[in-house]
Amino acid sequence: MKIGIDIDGVLTDEQRYVLDYGSAFFTQRNIPYQIHDDIYDSKDIFEVSEDEYNAFWKEHIFDYSRNINIRPFAAEIIKKLIEENYEIYIITSRSYTTYENENKEKMQNIVTEWLERNDIQYNDIIFSREKDKICRELNIDVMIEDKPENINIISKDIPVICFNEEYNKVCTGEKIYRAYSWYDIYSKIKEIENKNKIVIFDWGGVIESHKEGEYNIFTADIDMMRRLNVDVNKIDVIEEYTNCDNDKNGICIGCQSKKEECEAWFERVKKKFNLQCNLKEFAKVYDEEKGKVVYYKDVIETAKKLKKYCKIGMLSNLMFLDKERLNRQVNLKEFDYVWLSFELNCQKPDDKIYEIVEKDCEIKPSNILFIDDSSDNIETAKKRGWNTCLASGYELDKIKNSIDKFLK
Ligand SMILES: [Mg+2]
Repeated sequence: MKIGIDIDGVLTDEQRYVLDYGSAFFTQRNIPYQIHDDIYDSKDIFEVSEDEYNAFWKEHIFDYSRNINIRPFAAEIIKKLIEENYEIYIITSRSYTTYENENKEKMQNIVTEWLERNDIQYNDIIFSREKDKICRELNIDVMIEDKPENINIISKDIPVICFNEEYNKVCTGEKIYRAYSWYDIYSKIKEIENKNKIVIFDWGGVIESHKEGEYNIFTADIDMMRRLNVDVNKIDVIEEYTNCDNDKNGICIGCQSKKEECEAWFERVKKKFNLQCNLKEFAKVYDEEKGKVVYYKDVIETAKKLKKYCKIGMLSNLMFLDKERLNRQVNLKEFDYVWLSFELNCQKPDDKIYEIVEKDCEIKPSNILFIDDSSDNIETAKKRGWNTCLASGYELDKIKNSIDKFLK
């Protein structure tokens, strides 16, 4: 992740300097002034003339540039970010440095010497007034700024961390994050980064019970068939109804999404089990029995609470008869993404469905955490570089720990 950092007002408390040294400058020269600390660097801070304000800066700019203190913890946080593999770009429009003039090189040297003296590590430094353009050229992911004009322009493209000052209180927006200190900047960077992350939950086994001893999906299958007057003893017989003739092509449960496909699937099941009902009646019994299966509300709660920090998704091998029940139990709209095999015409652990997930959410593998109770499903995800957690829904602590680690 590439982070752009402004100097004045971000690495330094420029406004404090202007108020202290400005009021001294105008008092000593008997220039009347009124202070407005909600104004960004201009004559209006003091209600003085342009010439008077420029005279103040002309006298102080080199003193400020050489001697201004760095804000507490700035160097420590930047060092920590570099250790965590973030790239740091200092982007500044400090006076004299961005256009041809006799002080250009002198000021640029003062800036780099000041950075070195204050132990600021960085990948590169850019002197420019067109910060939005620089951010685009360098593919900056987050910019840290204090100047209202810059904050507003840059935040049209990328998230901006606004270093809180009276003069930028007006800056608000979806991509503007207000920070009050350097440690706060660190936590905002993490918050922004997590928004590009996703935690994906499997359904069966993770939300809905597969556990022996509980009313699980397999007991529901047996009860369903018994209600339909099918004589069943063995679970694996039950599992067969989910398969279809496309099985040999690598597609079975969940390949039916079109009406004709659903009907054709039911005809096969009907024949196989010698059912005496129609699809509508079957669907009713199916829904009633599956609706009794234990599902882990605390896992759903955990997922929904994550929405503040990252995106959430569901990736499950399910068929058309399942969707209504899912919606009733979790409200799928609350998930940023729902990938169900029957709607995608492929299923886990086929590589294809994982590829669809990556393309859909446009999130890189290392920013995905996938929670599933099947080791086969987990293996494919691992091979693609996803973070994984092999767990069942009753292992909530294991799930929570893997999420905490993933979001740091
Ligand atoms: Mg600034």
